[in-house]
Amino acid sequence: MDNLTDMTIAAAREGLRRGEFSATELTEAYLVSIEASNGAINAYVLVTHEIAREMARGADDRLRRGEGRALEGIPLGIKDMFCTRAGITQAGSRILNSFKPSYESTVSSNLWSDGAVMLGKLNMDEFGMGSSNETSCFGPTINPYRIKGTDIPLTAGGSSGGSAAAVAARLCAGALGTDTGGSIRQPGALTGIVGIKPTYGRCSRWGMIAFVSSLDQAGPMARTVRDCAIVLESMAGYDPKDSTSVDMPVPAYESALTGDVKGTRIGIPKEYRLDSMPAEIEQIWQRGIDWLRDAGAEIVDVSLPHTRYALPAYYILAPAESSSNLLRYDGVRYGFRAEGDDIVSMYENTRTIGFGPEVKRRIMIGTYVLSSSFCSDHYLKARKVRTLIHQDFERAFEKVDVLLTPVTPSAAFPLGTSTLDPVRMYHNDIFTVAVNIAGLPAMVVPSGVNADGLPLGLQVIGRAFDEPTLFRVGEVLESAAGPLPRPDVWWR
Ligand code: GLN
Repeated sequence: MDNLTDMTIAAAREGLRRGEFSATELTEAYLVSIEASNGAINAYVLVTHEIAREMARGADDRLRRGEGRALEGIPLGIKDMFCTRAGITQAGSRILNSFKPSYESTVSSNLWSDGAVMLGKLNMDEFGMGSSNETSCFGPTINPYRIKGTDIPLTAGGSSGGSAAAVAARLCAGALGTDTGGSIRQPGALTGIVGIKPTYGRCSRWGMIAFVSSLDQAGPMARTVRDCAIVLESMAGYDPKDSTSVDMPVPAYESALTGDVKGTRIGIPKEYRLDSMPAEIEQIWQRGIDWLRDAGAEIVDVSLPHTRYALPAYYILAPAESSSNLLRYDGVRYGFRAEGDDIVSMYENTRTIGFGPEVKRRIMIGTYVLSSSFCSDHYLKARKVRTLIHQDFERAFEKVDVLLTPVTPSAAFPLGTSTLDPVRMYHNDIFTVAVNIAGLPAMVVPSGVNADGLPLGLQVIGRAFDEPTLFRVGEVLESAAGPLPRPDVWWR
């Protein structure tokens, strides 16, 4: 039998159904790995041992009775952005210190209703703000991959860095992430795993800590395209508790994996070819184009003329909405409270101590762009850009079925290299934010390693609610690229 923690979700599902091993054995194998590895990787901020064991026992009972559900006995990790009844939920922030929600997010509760086992909560940038997991109050997650022959700690990406590293280092079979401007796709690319940001409205946001309500979306992160299809099918669906969730049937994503892309039209947006782009990113993109062409797809050049405005617009819209979402953390209702001489100084001290520097920067930018004197110069202009970006994609999708682009402007970078320069950090999101602005689905597929042995990924962007085509194209790319070389295990 394979090492249990090396199995894909699809393989583990079969093994469990056939009784080759139990959910308890599978869960224990992951708990042992986490115990041995988390000190070095820092992917989990909380391990829910007892709950995991109890859920695994329940799964074993149902499997024995032949009543196994879609994810029965599959151990998953949950980004700390999701409110869970088990343990605490902090979204990587000191201000939510020991916050214990009394309810479960819809998406995680959908997973538990399908039989999944909760291993614990995963590290992330504070409130999702960051691209390197370095803004977390729990310290950064470390990428399992290293530059060949060195031991320099590299970022696992962000904000879902804990989810990405946990999947890559075999500390869970799959994980929940959230993506507001690239937080599933960028860490996925930097750790060599698959992730999908679904169409806005495909998954409920209820019980997910709000960052940018008009952009936030939950999605699965796992080691294969098929595994992501399995988990998304379970997560997705209409939820009356989230008025932006869409009342449309959830397709059978796994059956979209036909392996056939003959005649599928793949758009290559010329604006994604940047002058400053490293040769290795250009090459991986070209390789992806060749793989799909060889598989019978039709390659079409397209233009998304407003692409260069996406990043600036995102860094107005996101701080604006988040500054307003974060108003609720005042020391009265949730988590951390600092002392003060009166109520105003209590608020001030709580927010001064409770929020990290990046969150405070965003609150200041957000309140500035929303202030009555500057609103029309910045926020309203960014809203108009949003419409233009949306129209760019609509026009492109008249000619093509999906778009293929890079995900990140570089492979994983050493920790500490971008933290002093926020604009440099924001630049990591250059290829991912437009998708959120337009509400579209997009997937990261591991596509190779660079000369240093670090993973590189490609992004497939689809029409709204056309996740099935993304999965179909993504799987063809995945099999053309073949499995990535595994990182040398230095962490246990
Ligand atoms: N890196 C982006 C930001 O800092 C996106 C984060 C996300 O998708 N949560 O805002």
